[in-house]
Amino acid sequence: VRYYLNRIAQLKHLNAFLEVYEEEALTKAQMLDTRLKNGEKLGALAGVVIGIKDVICYKGHNVSAASHILEGFTSLFSATAVERLLAEDAIIIGNLNCDEFAMGSTNENSAFGPTLNALDNSRVPGGSSGGSAVAVQADLCQVSLGSDTGGSVRQPADFCGIVGLKPTYGRISRYGLIAYASSFDQIGIFGKDIADVAAVLQVIAGPDEFDSTASQQAVPDYKAGLEDNKTFKFAYLRDAQYHDGLDAEMKDGYIDFFESLQLLGHTVSGRSFEYLDYVVPAYYVLTTAEASSNLSRYDGVKYGHRTAEQHLDLIEFYKKSRSEGFGKEVKRRILLGTFVLSAGYYDAYYTKAQQVRRLVTEKLNEILEEYDAILMPTVPSTAFKLGEKTDDPIAMYLADIYTVLANLAGVPAISVPLSRHSNGMPYGVQIITKKFSEANLLHIANRIM
Ligand code: GLN
Repeated sequence: VRYYLNRIAQLKHLNAFLEVYEEEALTKAQMLDTRLKNGEKLGALAGVVIGIKDVICYKGHNVSAASHILEGFTSLFSATAVERLLAEDAIIIGNLNCDEFAMGSTNENSAFGPTLNALDNSRVPGGSSGGSAVAVQADLCQVSLGSDTGGSVRQPADFCGIVGLKPTYGRISRYGLIAYASSFDQIGIFGKDIADVAAVLQVIAGPDEFDSTASQQAVPDYKAGLEDNKTFKFAYLRDAQYHDGLDAEMKDGYIDFFESLQLLGHTVSGRSFEYLDYVVPAYYVLTTAEASSNLSRYDGVKYGHRTAEQHLDLIEFYKKSRSEGFGKEVKRRILLGTFVLSAGYYDAYYTKAQQVRRLVTEKLNEILEEYDAILMPTVPSTAFKLGEKTDDPIAMYLADIYTVLANLAGVPAISVPLSRHSNGMPYGVQIITKKFSEANLLHIANRIM
């Protein structure tokens, strides 16, 4: 714990942590030490130092979703994932910076300033779980939790050169995760290697009486078979691999990688996926619709920020509190979501996007039935420069092309480091498998890394 506290202090300029629970972490470590000396059996994650994204509730600690609207709000309960980490004696060292309400791809939408990529401070770490990625990248903790609604764990893992897992929708309880888009949101895990990610997933996955969307499926042993020497049948999506938006050097890097897999005895074949250009529009219609509903609870009465202005009627009071509390990107999405749900446009946008979601899911599942996994890029480019895309939200949204697929379909996906670009930045490969096949996914990822 002291080691990590020192590193956090030394690398404060990265702005990864919003708060560090210094006293609490040291006390916890001492208590574990005493219990160990007394011959007590400790939990599966005893002494593992973990950071959590600032959208995950931890009783008695501030949680703000990196938004002024929740500034000063203290959690009244802990997320199920947090409860389970603590029950296995993990040490939570602090909460991590992110885009406001997990909306963004660069961490630049945080109300508390951006997190910097530790490899190149002029670049973004990705988002929305940028702080969680940098905390692991820069060795400020061992593993961290993030949330992934459209890529927010895999994309920053890719930009930072680490591992990021988004499990199947429903594998980890969302109880105590601040909602962005409830039918997409899933807690995810960052680590330096697959074994660490598997160990954390083992503890936090599983049914939960507080979340009816958490699956009842039993949790298998994720570590068993991790080292097996099997060969796999892989598919890549031609429409993804030969997409105009993909960086040319990375395109070659993936082709070399597929060839090297074949030399190792795996099979790799191309499949078409004609819906690829519709995934980003469908994702942004559906998630903004859900967000506009989820975020209506922040009214200045029940939580966090309320306007200081006096003598307002109720509606004016709501408007004023929300206008002051929410940042620009969150407002943009509330407006967009409200629009696509409005009576005159509902069918043209919301219903249409639901239909696209169904088509995309069916097609993806069909391919996943035939292959062990789909391999594809995580992001079309390496980490952006700070400020590079802030003026162009559409360009920013389009860069989510490879990650939103797994959230639309609810399937598990992981990003593992693959190579380094001539610009010095790392990039990863994304692996996607069938629903609830995390054991397989982790096994494949371990073989590839
Ligand atoms: N970049 C995507 C967005 O802005 C993903 C966010 C997320 O997964 N939370 O919506």
